[in-house]
Amino acid sequence: MRHLAPYQTGIWLAEYINLRCQLCAVYRSIPQAQLSQSHSSSNPSLFSQNSLLAENASHSLSSNYSLSSNHPLLSNHSFSTSIRKRFNSRFSSGLLCPSCHSSLTWLPQPFEVDIAAGRTLTIQAATYYDYPMRQAIKAFKHHEDMTKLPLLLHAIRQLPRPHGCHHDNSMIVAMPTTDERLIKRGFDPVSILAAYLSKHWDIPLWQGIRRVDDTVSQQGLSRAERLTNLDNAFALIEPPPVKRLLLFDDVATTGASLQALAHTLCIYPVPAPNANNKYHLCAYALAHGSQL
Ligand SMILES: [Zn+2]
Repeated sequence: MRHLAPYQTGIWLAEYINLRCQLCAVYRSIPQAQLSQSHSSSNPSLFSQNSLLAENASHSLSSNYSLSSNHPLLSNHSFSTSIRKRFNSRFSSGLLCPSCHSSLTWLPQPFEVDIAAGRTLTIQAATYYDYPMRQAIKAFKHHEDMTKLPLLLHAIRQLPRPHGCHHDNSMIVAMPTTDERLIKRGFDPVSILAAYLSKHWDIPLWQGIRRVDDTVSQQGLSRAERLTNLDNAFALIEPPPVKRLLLFDDVATTGASLQALAHTLCIYPVPAPNANNKYHLCAYALAHGSQL
């Protein structure tokens, strides 16, 4: 059995064992079905949201099942089928209950930043950088609070997989961190989140670019200062093996970091025989801006 990071066990517990909503802590099992019915009768729009959650849940379930079936304990087919049915019957709403899910604003309008002459980068966030995502991201990022990871994973699952992208023609580029920051923090929060996005979309990660600056935090800087701060912040280790690159960061406030990362990639010449072509770049983030 392959080694698993401790937080992966926590995700499984949150999804399949502890069936509480990761925000309000209400059980998502039997009361959940009643909650869905009462909500769908009073608010028709919830129907589609519940469908989305169910779809996410089934996606996660199928991923989990393929892993679980390798476990020696689940080698008995009937036993594994029984476990799967049990999961199916109890697990029907993702990591948040429909009420909490619908209380958040998902997929704000994408925004664009300039990355080169005549070229822009579109950035799609999963939600706004408000409660509860703001607190969850801060706790996870700065205090390594893994109990917030299920909520962040729920947000990641709201991101729409880009049309036409798949594991053969695209790669996800997580916002790199510096060695200094990695040593200081002891972990890389963005790469963990990107790994879940990679699993969710079934698109591999590419780590051929690294951060070479040791700039101070971007917090508190103006947009112009952020961009100046990021001049020559990234360096390519190797040419990207595919032309479609999906950039990912946890928070895109002004999009300056993603903009600088995209700029580094778009000035790099595409190897022959596609030398006249350019990389297709788009960007995703967990959260952007604030509605408040
Ligand atoms: Zn809830």
